[in-house]
Amino acid sequence: MARYRESVCRLCRREGLKLFLKGDRCYSEKCAFERREYAPGDHGQMRKKPSDYGVQLRAKQKLKRMYGLLEKQFHSYFEKADRQKGITGTNLLILLERRLDNMVFRMGFASSRTEARQLVRHYHFSVNGRKVNIPSYLVKVGDEIEVREGSRKVSTITEALESVARRGVPQWLALDKGNFKGAVRMYPTREELTMPVQEQLVVELYSK
Ligand code: SF4
Repeated sequence: MARYRESVCRLCRREGLKLFLKGDRCYSEKCAFERREYAPGDHGQMRKKPSDYGVQLRAKQKLKRMYGLLEKQFHSYFEKADRQKGITGTNLLILLERRLDNMVFRMGFASSRTEARQLVRHYHFSVNGRKVNIPSYLVKVGDEIEVREGSRKVSTITEALESVARRGVPQWLALDKGNFKGAVRMYPTREELTMPVQEQLVVELYSK
């Protein structure tokens, strides 16, 4: 599978916002975006007015990169969201939130989505008692995600749990830190998803 292999901090600088792709480093003064808050490259500090298309494109890239997805996979979420009832943009955000790697990150078992994805791939989690190693697995309301018995001493997980208070667990999820498990209480509402994304621009871009 294709992967993005460049420095992920360049993505934050390109999008003009912290995407929190590197775990604890993102909260420290080592964060590259804090030090150089402009786009990478020779012309990164030049300002020019973007076109409507440019604005829509950046909104899409920002959302896609936030969840660590490549174009084909991201577009398939859009198509799925478009087929569902309701507002396509909100459907898209909820689908992205339902990914198992995102849930693992949101519950605090990993300090970034990238880290969560790797942990899922290495069979450290079960969903409703069954081991799952598919980061894109879509979790449903009522599902229980648990760190598997043999993985409870994995330092990446224990260290992430130690700093979970700082990052916080969203209201639509429940974390039972002592028992290494969490549950999906409900899907988030649009208002509860506070990251700075403009999903309507993504819908406009793909609807052309
Ligand atoms: Fe982005 Fe984190 Fe790198 Fe800062 S440290 S630029 S938030 S990935």
